[in-house]
Amino acid sequence: MEYVSTRGGIEPAGFEEAVLRGFAPDGGLYLPTRIPEFTKAELQAMADLSYQELAEKILRPYIPKDQIPDHDLRLLLAESFAGFTSKEITPQIRLEEEGILIQELFHGPSQSFKDIAMGFLINCMDYFLSRKKEQLSLILATTGDTGPAAAHAAAGKKSLHCWPLYPLGMITEEQERQMTTLHAANVHPVGVRGCTNGVDDLDGVIARLFADKKRKKELCLSSVNSINWGRVLVQTVHYFYGYFRAAAHIGEPISFSVPAGAFGNLCAGFFARAMGLPIKNLLCATNDNGVLHRVFADGLLVKKDLKQTLSSAIDIVVPYNFWRFLYYLCDRDPEQIRKFMDEFAKTDAIRFDSSLRKKLGQGFLSTTVSDQQTLETIQKIYRQCDGYLLDPHGAVAVAGAANCAKAMACGEKIICLATAHPAKFPYITEKALAGETPAMAHHPGIEGAKAGFQYLASCELSQLEDALVEDIRGKMQYPKKDLS
Ligand SMILES: *Cc1c(COP(=O)(O)O)cnc(C)c1O
Repeated sequence: MEYVSTRGGIEPAGFEEAVLRGFAPDGGLYLPTRIPEFTKAELQAMADLSYQELAEKILRPYIPKDQIPDHDLRLLLAESFAGFTSKEITPQIRLEEEGILIQELFHGPSQSFKDIAMGFLINCMDYFLSRKKEQLSLILATTGDTGPAAAHAAAGKKSLHCWPLYPLGMITEEQERQMTTLHAANVHPVGVRGCTNGVDDLDGVIARLFADKKRKKELCLSSVNSINWGRVLVQTVHYFYGYFRAAAHIGEPISFSVPAGAFGNLCAGFFARAMGLPIKNLLCATNDNGVLHRVFADGLLVKKDLKQTLSSAIDIVVPYNFWRFLYYLCDRDPEQIRKFMDEFAKTDAIRFDSSLRKKLGQGFLSTTVSDQQTLETIQKIYRQCDGYLLDPHGAVAVAGAANCAKAMACGEKIICLATAHPAKFPYITEKALAGETPAMAHHPGIEGAKAGFQYLASCELSQLEDALVEDIRGKMQYPKKDLS
């Protein structure tokens, strides 16, 4: 299996290279040259596997054995999921009263869906780098969950340093503390002031750093944000696992409702379906930022000003992974994608023609969920389902499913992905439940971070680039070149 770029400007690369680089050198996103498909009999045989065994079956065809042999892949997967507090990794529960299925993706070390893929991705990077005796500097921008997940996964790894950047005041205190109380010598969270466009301002700085090829090489820069192929790949597994738990028989069409930000999770759902999993609809549930909803509803990808909402982890203006999906809609024509990406970079808007719009609608539903509906949904589920507490993102998924009920067949099962633990958003729980704080509003991991000593570093957006470069230079252990 090899990897090409959505922009078509590179020689096919291996899994190792795709994962270590993040972005392809031509500025595109890596994609596998083919999507392996499982037969019904193969799916049947996978249905009762543990999460880790299932992950091994699904990942194996994408990772050449000479890059990670079977034995090592098994160890890497075991290590990556060892810190999860549920043996099932992503357990599924049924809220009888409402007849809905919830798949909980928040049992990892930082209590969000980002833990699902981050552990494996960073362990893989460390595995490859240690073998080559090289080092990487990982820079990432976070809306609140990627940062803590990366910080926990990277802590103590000798081959890498990690700079999680967050817009100061725009993530919850709980999320901030998960990074700033960690005190790992190789993890350097920075709160950035003056980000009027939230995380997109930080992505802009990172994009500039990465665009300078010389500096990128000198500083050994890479990224673990959701453009990294390793993230998308590992996120396909929870679709399989969830499907097998919910299906009465293999072949039953089942849908998923997904709170969508950068389109990484949905992109993984798209791949799971392409691998043969009988997913009927992927429901793209957005908040008031709604960029993706406009794509599906109006065939329009437009960059708008950011609105801060209660579901802050999906406050995103540019859904990066959308290009991957578009590549397949455009029959794998990189020329088309290059045109679209360049047009979007210039004008902040693309209008899709009628044939593409038709394809966009196949197997996808979309909706927007307001803050008000998010709060009402948290309250309704709590009151009617025996005190079950959703976080605002899980609530967006559940409300999204309700909004789209008309578009679904009678009796069609839909699995709502709950992507964060409610303890990460206590003030929203309070708001929704008028001051009540049920047991599920607490989590020992979050309580621990609350009590810890905080090491805070902050910086002005205008000075971030220079400050980062200086900091990274100071941390380099294996300068590859004489810099003089
Ligand atoms: C990142 C995140 C999402 C969105 O996932 P994407 O892959 O960016 O679409 C949803 N919910 C939570 C809690 C997240 O942290």
